Amino acid sequence: MTHEEIYKVTTDAAKNTLTTTEQAAADRARAAENPEQFWSEVAQRLTWSKPFSKVKDVSFDASDLHIKWFEDGELNASVNCLDRHLDNHGDETAIIWEGDDPSTDKHITYRQAYEETCRMANLLKARGVNKGDRVAIYMPMIPEAAYAMLACARIGAVHTVVFGGFSPDALASRINDCYAVAVITADEGVRGGRTIPLKANVDKALEQSSSVRLVLTVERTGAKVDMKGGRDLFWYSEARNDVSPDCPPEPMNAEDPLFILYTSGSTGTPKGVLHTTGGYMTFSAYTHEVVFDYRPGDIYWCTADVGWITGHTYIVYGPLANRATTLMFEGVPTYPDASRFWNVVDKHKVNIFYTAPTALRALMREGDELVEKTDRSSLRLLGSVGEPINPEAWAWYHRVVGNGKLPIVDTWWQTETGGILISPLPGATDLKPGSATLPLPSIQPAIVDAEGNFLEGACTGNLVLTDSWPGQMRTVYGDHQRFIDTYFKTYPGMYFTGDGVRRDEDGYYWITGRVDDVINVSGHRMGTAEVESALVAHPSVAEAAVVGYPHDVKGQGIYAYVTLMEGAEASDELEKDLVDMVRSEIGPIAKPDLLHFTPALPKTRSGKIMRRILRKIAENKFSNLGDTSTLAEPGVVDALIEGRKNR
Ligand code: ATP
Ligand code: MG
Repeated sequence: MTHEEIYKVTTDAAKNTLTTTEQAAADRARAAENPEQFWSEVAQRLTWSKPFSKVKDVSFDASDLHIKWFEDGELNASVNCLDRHLDNHGDETAIIWEGDDPSTDKHITYRQAYEETCRMANLLKARGVNKGDRVAIYMPMIPEAAYAMLACARIGAVHTVVFGGFSPDALASRINDCYAVAVITADEGVRGGRTIPLKANVDKALEQSSSVRLVLTVERTGAKVDMKGGRDLFWYSEARNDVSPDCPPEPMNAEDPLFILYTSGSTGTPKGVLHTTGGYMTFSAYTHEVVFDYRPGDIYWCTADVGWITGHTYIVYGPLANRATTLMFEGVPTYPDASRFWNVVDKHKVNIFYTAPTALRALMREGDELVEKTDRSSLRLLGSVGEPINPEAWAWYHRVVGNGKLPIVDTWWQTETGGILISPLPGATDLKPGSATLPLPSIQPAIVDAEGNFLEGACTGNLVLTDSWPGQMRTVYGDHQRFIDTYFKTYPGMYFTGDGVRRDEDGYYWITGRVDDVINVSGHRMGTAEVESALVAHPSVAEAAVVGYPHDVKGQGIYAYVTLMEGAEASDELEKDLVDMVRSEIGPIAKPDLLHFTPALPKTRSGKIMRRILRKIAENKFSNLGDTSTLAEPGVVDALIEGRKNR
């Protein structure tokens, strides 16, 4: 299929019977006319214990930076996710849990989720955890992870979820950065048929920390673990039975912190992104409904881990605030085999499915048959997040997973933005594969050149936001200056996203990758995403990562790392084919100077390619690779260095 053919098919698909169309169009108009009025109305979807009288007080001026939404209102996030649904909908399913082992699952009602959350909240309170204290959550993907988050929210403690795949060192650095007083964990996690020693990792981490007074351990596998007297407590066998299933919620100011979450560290040391209560809840609930066209009764599945922002906003807070049924999956896409996602879709009749390009590319590599043998007829809408989705993967998602019928929402956002900012509204936006399309209602993106001049019309440059939205981060925890320096100094008066972007003649946004990753070849600036997409369009290529490296003549040359599909072989001929393909797709200027076939790419735990490491290797600088603590498989780096030396 050519891109034009895909465009036509999907444009038609977008016009199928989704019902948000009219509402979304009306929201865009309303928000454009009066954004404050718009958000004030949207915020009414929440339950406030004290109504706000002021909607917004924001300055992006670095010398007077402040961001406040609904500042005199009071509410509690857990009340909004649980209590208010109990009267009429307490018996409806809040969470479907699908275990790592395909024979295990659970349906949890809103009432059960409420009671479990209250119990945990009471336990935290009884053990001296107070409003404003930080609590680290280091859990597998089990419902207790959601209860733990909501329990913190209930008593006003600030959670920081640390992905269960992180090492003891990575956990310790996060605990120490925010002086967490408690850790909620499990004895072990289970993923892909293997166990992960979470409690033992916590014990190791705490050798390097002194702030933690309580370690609450949920029994997931029942494995024997060490328990330290006075500090450690089992949840089911020790603590849970002594605490009441009702806990009065702490009224929180809209601007009180809800959580801290460390970014994934693709570009540097992770930042402790702080989100507050009123704006974040308004934004997560609203965007979850309009972007996913969520309707009562839908089964909604976001495959992220709660350790990432996507898990916070689109597994827990947004869906539960909307009284959705949210599916929580403990396992991995390739266990027991690469049909797992689609088997889960069929088993639970999932209507809305939201995943990441990295997962799609991995599954694409395994062949279509594993998808095609499943039914998937319950699906109505597909979503993507985390990286630019190259048109090839987009087309596969659409054609194979969606049987050529389902719209795809490619959602652009960041940990910092709290929720989706640029995305199609299903039914209201014509789609273009590889483009996140248009800003959501009230969102004000702009494109600036290196000097900060606004670019108009079709153009390429740096993506900034000229005004605030309720879900915006408020600070870097413990380092407000870093917040100002990172986001508001590059282009005064604007929030700088760090991402490069192209806007086409229809006003559609195409994220081209991070600005740090832009390559300058003989004076031509090029986003890495485009070159990668051209490479991935070849049937033998599974994934590609492109970086610049010093080149005598061109200033920067293009260095392409390529992984191949199952069964494909690296050869000089394939190398030549690939180079020719990029040349014909984009132009001679984009032709890779060096092509490096590798079995794997270095990725963060959330599956993003770490280009800064690839850049160092391409530059032949092997000694100082920077922070590698968030790498999924550190071994990949050595193999890449070997491969580089042999060139
Ligand atoms: P760090 O900021 O620590 O380097 P990170 O940027 O990877 O880590 P996240 O907040 O998880 O941490 O990722 C946000 C980034 O992911 C965006 O800035 C963008 O580069 C990329 N991204 C997310 N969704 C999309 C999308 N739909 N299209 C293109 N890029 C996306
Ligand atoms: Mg980032």
